[in-house]
Amino acid sequence: MAKKYCDIENLKYILNEVHDFSSLLKLEHFADHDAEAIDTFLDSVKDFSDKELYPCFTEMDSPPAHYKDGKIIVHPQVGTVMKQGGEMGLINATFPYESNGLQMPLTAFTAAHYIMDAANNHLPGYLGLTMGATELIIHFASDELKNTYVEKMGSGQWGGTMCLTEPQAGSSLSDIVTSATPTENGHYKIKGQKIFISAGDHEYADNFVHLVLARIEGAPAGTKGISLFVVPKKRPESDGSLTPNDVITAGDFQKMGQKGYCTTHLMFGENDDCEGYLVGNPHQGLRYMFLMMNGARIGVGRGAAAIAEAAYQASLQYANERPQGRKITNTGKKDPTSKQNLIIKHADVRRMLLMQKSVAEGSLSLVLKAAKLADLYNFTKDEKEKEHHKLLLEILIPLVKTYPSEMGLQSASNGLQVLGGYGFCSEYVLQQYYRDLRIFSIYEGTTGIQSLDLLGRKVVMNGGEALRILAAEIMNTMKAASDYDELRPYAGKLGEKLQLVQKVIEHLAQYAMKGDFERYTADATVFMEMFGHVVMSWLWLEMATFSKEALVKGDTKHAPEFHESKIHTMKYYFKYELAKTTSQAEVLMDAASLTIASDKEIFA
Ligand SMILES: Cc1cc2nc3c(=O)[nH]c(=O)nc-3n(C[C@H](O)[C@H](O)[C@H](O)COP(=O)(O)OP(=O)(O)OC[C@H]3O[C@@H](n4cnc5c(N)ncnc54)[C@H](O)[C@@H]3O)c2cc1C
Repeated sequence: MAKKYCDIENLKYILNEVHDFSSLLKLEHFADHDAEAIDTFLDSVKDFSDKELYPCFTEMDSPPAHYKDGKIIVHPQVGTVMKQGGEMGLINATFPYESNGLQMPLTAFTAAHYIMDAANNHLPGYLGLTMGATELIIHFASDELKNTYVEKMGSGQWGGTMCLTEPQAGSSLSDIVTSATPTENGHYKIKGQKIFISAGDHEYADNFVHLVLARIEGAPAGTKGISLFVVPKKRPESDGSLTPNDVITAGDFQKMGQKGYCTTHLMFGENDDCEGYLVGNPHQGLRYMFLMMNGARIGVGRGAAAIAEAAYQASLQYANERPQGRKITNTGKKDPTSKQNLIIKHADVRRMLLMQKSVAEGSLSLVLKAAKLADLYNFTKDEKEKEHHKLLLEILIPLVKTYPSEMGLQSASNGLQVLGGYGFCSEYVLQQYYRDLRIFSIYEGTTGIQSLDLLGRKVVMNGGEALRILAAEIMNTMKAASDYDELRPYAGKLGEKLQLVQKVIEHLAQYAMKGDFERYTADATVFMEMFGHVVMSWLWLEMATFSKEALVKGDTKHAPEFHESKIHTMKYYFKYELAKTTSQAEVLMDAASLTIASDKEIFA
């Protein structure tokens, strides 16, 4: 195990300085918080993660959570984290006061969960899903449901889940068939099965509260006929007792990663005795889920960014300890009698580490920016500003989910490579980070689905307004960077790439205008990659500008090397990663449409 799994100085720098966290505290909703108390909260989460999460990270990989005799067996630390995490506010801190919350900004909460994810990504999901399920109840359910469930879930006594997926309905939720039959008593009888349900059952919660998407009998076909239900594993009775509610754990899924985070198969109403309680209005279920989806997608991006950071720290430590080979001298020769170099001295190893650093820290910046936009959107009162934050958040959300997941995986692969043969071996942790990261581009909407959302919906939403707002933000950063001679060429380069994105969109729009939407979106994932590099270059230029300004002003909070390394990493990103957008644009504007050719042409 590496000595370090995340860099708190860096986290606080990006949170407090680059994203100016304290500006959020001026909003009335957050008025009771102060930056110092949040800082102390983050330190306590780091301490908790050091003691309770990181030490059992590899243990949770093997043996994995598993199904035995009708039960899901998980690592006992799940119990500690549900209980202590609940007490520390790691489920309910963002909830409003009237729901036993602390009205903490999501941005601070995201930073706290990032620390936990970096320490041990198998555990925070148990808290995160309970939080997400409770939020749905707080926002959309009746007072009766709120009174019954919110307190026990917010404290971690009861777990929460999100039950969307069915065997025939994964990406396409319009195909959900779980049924809900109204009864005379006002509740519904639920019947159906849900698969891949994270944190769906274990022995460390007294009850589970499943937020289930189902179709009320006679509902319209497709997404417009889906409703949302609270379906407890055990029904809370008026005397405080719990009665089984015909929710059966039928099995689990054994996976290549995140093995300590159980994934369950649940059956509802096998004996016709499963009660579900409608949340809000009928047929609005998917809309409610999607209204809360931005938070979930920020959560997934955050988890991937955190694992990428932990992998970077582990590779960096190894590269600083492993002697191998010698440096080529100016004469082009090596002296075999001289001491071996540490591998961190080799340019190729430094390239891989820089890639890891740029992806991990850049992803963290992206995730915190999105969380801050969510806070601003939710609690700013000025309607015009609200709309601005909303549109910017909407266009960034598919990327926040996708970039850390896809590029985090590539960076963890580089990290594994830094360890050479040992990277492939079970006793070194890099392979676990790599395996754990693999799921992030699949759940909560695959990369393919996120890319369709970006190009098919977000780029064109409100007549392209979201994209215009994003471009204006990027140009503001370019302007600030241009004050410094060292950064000006990078601002210029980013401007060129922004124009290239525009050119690609104009090119693709021709297909949409002709009604050929299949062609318009056929290479949406390539567009996502290109868009990702441009946005990430913006965020790196923003970070580099802060660091440059700090150096010029003689900042004493961080060592000069800290800031110099930020500027250096920005330069790395532009040279090695942003450059890839040239070939991506070429692919996107190529006339050949190879992937929508006929089956015969492609697979014969
Ligand atoms: C470990 C794990 C935990 C999970 N946790 C939960 C949970 O807690 N709750 C829950 O409800 N679900 C959960 N899921 C389910 C997860 O969200 C789905 O697996 C995911 O949405 C993909 O659905 P699918 O597996 O059916 O794949 P499919 O939808 O069959 O997709 C297969 C491939 O086809 C592509 N594809 C599908 N449709 C399109 C399209 N229209 N255009 C282009 N490409 C397309 C996809 O991008 C993908 O590459 C979990 C899954 C796993 C593996």
